Amino acid sequence: MSKYIFVTGGVTSSLGKGIIAASLAKLLQARGLRTTIQKFDPYINVDPGTMNPYEHGECYVTEDGAETDLDLGHYERFLNIFTSQANNVTTGRIYQTVINKEREGAYLGKTVQIIPHITDEIKRRMKLLSESGEFDIIITEIGGTVGDIESLPYVEAVRQMQWELPEEDLIVIHLTLIPYLKAAKELKTKPTQHSVKLLSQEGVFPDIIVCRTEHPINDDIKRKIALFCNVKIDSVIEAQDASTIYEVPLIMMQEKLDAIVLKKLAIQNNIEPDLSQWKAFVDKVKKPKTKVSIGLIGKYVELQDAYKSILESFVHAGAANDCKVSVHYIHSEFITPENVAVKLKGLDGLLVAPGFGHRGIEGKITAVKYARETGLPFFGICLGMQMAVIEFAQNILKIKNAHSTEMDPQCSEPVIDMMEEQKKISIKGGTMRLGSYSCEVKLGTLAHDIYKKLQIIERHRHRYEFNNKYLSEFEKNGMIASGSNQQTGLVEIMEIPSHPFFIGVQYHPELKSTVENPHPLFVTFIAAAKKYNSNLKELNTMNLQTAAN
Ligand code: GLN
Repeated sequence: MSKYIFVTGGVTSSLGKGIIAASLAKLLQARGLRTTIQKFDPYINVDPGTMNPYEHGECYVTEDGAETDLDLGHYERFLNIFTSQANNVTTGRIYQTVINKEREGAYLGKTVQIIPHITDEIKRRMKLLSESGEFDIIITEIGGTVGDIESLPYVEAVRQMQWELPEEDLIVIHLTLIPYLKAAKELKTKPTQHSVKLLSQEGVFPDIIVCRTEHPINDDIKRKIALFCNVKIDSVIEAQDASTIYEVPLIMMQEKLDAIVLKKLAIQNNIEPDLSQWKAFVDKVKKPKTKVSIGLIGKYVELQDAYKSILESFVHAGAANDCKVSVHYIHSEFITPENVAVKLKGLDGLLVAPGFGHRGIEGKITAVKYARETGLPFFGICLGMQMAVIEFAQNILKIKNAHSTEMDPQCSEPVIDMMEEQKKISIKGGTMRLGSYSCEVKLGTLAHDIYKKLQIIERHRHRYEFNNKYLSEFEKNGMIASGSNQQTGLVEIMEIPSHPFFIGVQYHPELKSTVENPHPLFVTFIAAAKKYNSNLKELNTMNLQTAAN
C-alpha cells in the first residue's frame, strides 16, 4: 500500500512547491523508496493545453500525450522517471467526470454536490496511482495558495483522506514564506501563522512546515513557528534561496526533510541517500570552466516559464560540456533583415523556439537565414524547424511564395502544411499530434552522429508538418530529411550537411532531458557552440597578430 504526502502552499504563489516536492521525492528515491509525484491544479481548464504561455508558462507533454503543468517537467528532470496523464489533474477534469456521470444517470436521482461528489472524485484521482502497486510513496502537490476559493475542495479532500487513513499513512507539508523586512532587519513569521491558521480552519493540520527564506532562520524563529503552527521544532524546515534549483535536494538533505518525513510515515529506512553524482552535477553547474552565449528566438521571451524545459535542458547540456550556457532572449517580432547582424552579434549558437500563430514569424525566418549563411550553430524546435524549412525554400529553392498554411491558409506553395488527420478536427483541446512517436534516423547524418541510434522515440505537440511533395527538391539542394516516422512518412528531422551544425526537429527534445540523461541534441548543440566560440577566438588572435606584424 502506498503512503501519501501532500504539499500545500501558503502566503503567496511561486514559492516553488514543485521544486520542494521534487527534491523530497529525489531524496526518498535515493533511499530506495519507489516514489512518484502528481499535481492537482485548481483551475477550470480541463488541461493547460488551451492556455496561452503568458497565462500558464510552458505546456509540458508526457509520453502518453497529456498536456500538463510545467511542474511535471521538474518531476521528470529530478527523478528521471516518466509521468503520465494520471499525474496531473485539474478542476476542469474533475467536474467533467462528475458531470458526465450525472448525465449517464450514475448518481441515481441524488443531488450532485461538491461534498461528497466532487471531493469523492478528487480522492479517487488522488489514490489512482497507488492502484498499480508500483509506488511506496505518492507525493501530491496542490496547486494555488491556501485560502483560494478554488483550492477549497482539494483541501477538503485531503482532510477526508487524513480522517480515513491511519495517521502514519498520510502527512501534510505546508510550504510558506518568511519575509525579511529590511528596515526592521527582521524575519517575520506572522504571514506563516496566518496561513497555517487558514489551513487549520479548513480542517487540515500540517505535519511539517517548510519555510522559504532569503536569510537563515535561527532557533528562536523556528521555535516561534513551531509553537504557533502546532508542530515540533524539528518539523520546521528552512529552505533558503538557492543559486540553482538543482541544489534544493542537497539543502533539503542537510535540513533532514527526508528523515523527518520517514519518521512521521513510520517507515524504517536506514539508507543514507547517495547524492554524490547529483552533487557532482550541481558543482559543474555552479563552477563552469567556460561560457557560451545562445540566442533564444521566440515571442514569449518576457516570460521565462514559457520556455522552462528548454532552459533546463541548457543547464543539463552546459554541465555535460563543463560550461555555462548564457541564454539571450531575443524577441522575434523585432528582428529585421537590417538589424539581424547586430541583434545576433556575439552569439555562439541560435535556437529558434516552438510556437504558434503568425506573430514574429518573419523575424524567425530572418534569424535562420543569418545562421545558415554565417555558419552559426542552429537548432530549431518544432516551429523553429518549420521556419528553417520555409527559409530554405524561399532563399535557396527560390520558391518565393513558400510558407506554412498555419500563417497563410491560402498559401500557393505550402512547404509546411496541416497534417491530413488534423484537417477534420475543429475542437482545439487535446487534439494535436501529442506524445511519443518513433522516428527512424538515417545513417551517416548529423542526427545519427548525435543519437548514435537508428530508432528514437520523442514527444510531439503540433498540427503542421513538412510537405513531402517538396522533399526531393530540398535534398537535391542541400537540406535533407535525416529522420522520419516510418508509418506515416512524416519528416521529423531536417539538417544541412554542409553547415557546421544546422538541425531542426519537429518534436520536442527538451521534454526528455534530465539531470541523469541530458538530451544528446542539446549536448551536441552546446558542444558545437563551444567550438564556434573557440574558432572565433582563434581567428581574432590571428587577426590581431597579423595586424601587429
Ligand atoms: N505551430 C506549429 C504546429 O502546430 C508548431 C507547434 C510547436 O512549435 N509546438 O505544427
